[in-house]
Amino acid sequence: MNFESEEHTALRAAVSALGQRHGRGHDREALWAEAAKLGYLGVNLPEEYGGGGGGMAELSLVLEELGAAGCPLLMMVVSPAICGTVIARFGTDEQKRRWLPGLADGSVTMAFGITEPDAGSNSHRITTTARRADDGGWILTGRKVFISGVDIAEATLVVGRTEDARTGRLKPCLFIVPRDTPGFTRSQIDMELHAHEKQFELVLDDVALPADALVGNEDAGLLQLFAGLNPERIMTAAFAIGMGRYALAQAVDYARTRQVWKAPIGAHQAIAHPLAQAHIELELARLMMQKAAALYDAGDDIAAGEAANMAKYAAAEACVKAVDQAVHTLGGNGLTREYGLAALVTAARVARIAPVSREMILNYVSHQSLGLPKSY
Ligand SMILES: Cc1cc2nc3c(=O)[nH]c(=O)nc-3n(C[C@H](O)[C@H](O)[C@H](O)COP(=O)(O)OP(=O)(O)OC[C@H]3O[C@@H](n4cnc5c(N)ncnc54)[C@H](O)[C@@H]3O)c2cc1C
Repeated sequence: MNFESEEHTALRAAVSALGQRHGRGHDREALWAEAAKLGYLGVNLPEEYGGGGGGMAELSLVLEELGAAGCPLLMMVVSPAICGTVIARFGTDEQKRRWLPGLADGSVTMAFGITEPDAGSNSHRITTTARRADDGGWILTGRKVFISGVDIAEATLVVGRTEDARTGRLKPCLFIVPRDTPGFTRSQIDMELHAHEKQFELVLDDVALPADALVGNEDAGLLQLFAGLNPERIMTAAFAIGMGRYALAQAVDYARTRQVWKAPIGAHQAIAHPLAQAHIELELARLMMQKAAALYDAGDDIAAGEAANMAKYAAAEACVKAVDQAVHTLGGNGLTREYGLAALVTAARVARIAPVSREMILNYVSHQSLGLPKSY
């Protein structure tokens, strides 16, 4: 019996073949262009805007397989998954026509900015604020940090706040900010990461935006935001599972052939068991990711929220452990550039911190799933 549908198995094989052709030393732009041409980047977006008409099940599968081949495309987490989803679900017809075809065919990339220097994990504390301009547009002011890929993205979907006319309280809202808008500046953060995608600190200094920069409805900001965050967690899980699988495969290959006593090192249980454990944990995390994607694609945002958080947690932990064990399995070679595993030690940690840290997921599960009281 096939656990996955025939379509998913075929998609997995095709994406894997693409990934194998590009591999670890890949040219990001060439891979992005080819994946786009084959329809993989917009596989979750509506067909009427050039997408594949699928969902997070398909998009996460694509990212996982590229990662397993050593060439994950980080901007898939952001561009089609968060931005594409939010615009497809909540954008106006005009916004859909303007942005979705490009996001679907990969010719347009969109970054996503929620994190702020003084808010971090506490996104209720963000202070990027939008006020109405006299011409009916918006003036956006604030700062963001650690925003990925702003240099290669035509626009950034920025999470800000507007004032509720009735209560005066600030409520979250999403704005599309094109890269070259005056007052929107970026500076690259010097990260200890070997990745094509860079992280930026952003300053929004009285950025004037047209009225239609606001995505969807001003009063449904929170709902719209959460609709984008579940895909982000599912995709981060896919990113982590792919990377973990890649590291594990390198380690298994090495353990099969490296011989310093009378049998290959993989025959020693001290080497074999942790690799077996890593394999089991990655498989378990993938099951949870598939559950989260299935719930999300079925339209159950609440149940998908819990599953997506759990999948992100499980995948990040499995990835960190798999990478650590892979490095160890290769001995000294685990730290050489030639084998490329040492660089994954930092890359794997990203999945534990972003887009929501391990502790914030444990908090969420403690409160939401178990009903325990809050300490903060
Ligand atoms: C490579 C990379 C790419 C990123 N890309 C993006 C992007 O494209 N867009 C974007 O918006 N953001 C992005 N981020 C930001 C990321 O989402 C944040 O780093 C993350 O949300 C954590 O926020 P922080 O770094 O401010 O940590 P903090 O919030 O300062 O947390 C620091 C530590 O304290 C712990 N902590 C905080 N509060 C609690 C609590 N209540 N209980 C227990 N522990 C707690 C955290 O778990 C963490 O271990 C990226 C980050 C990285 C590293």
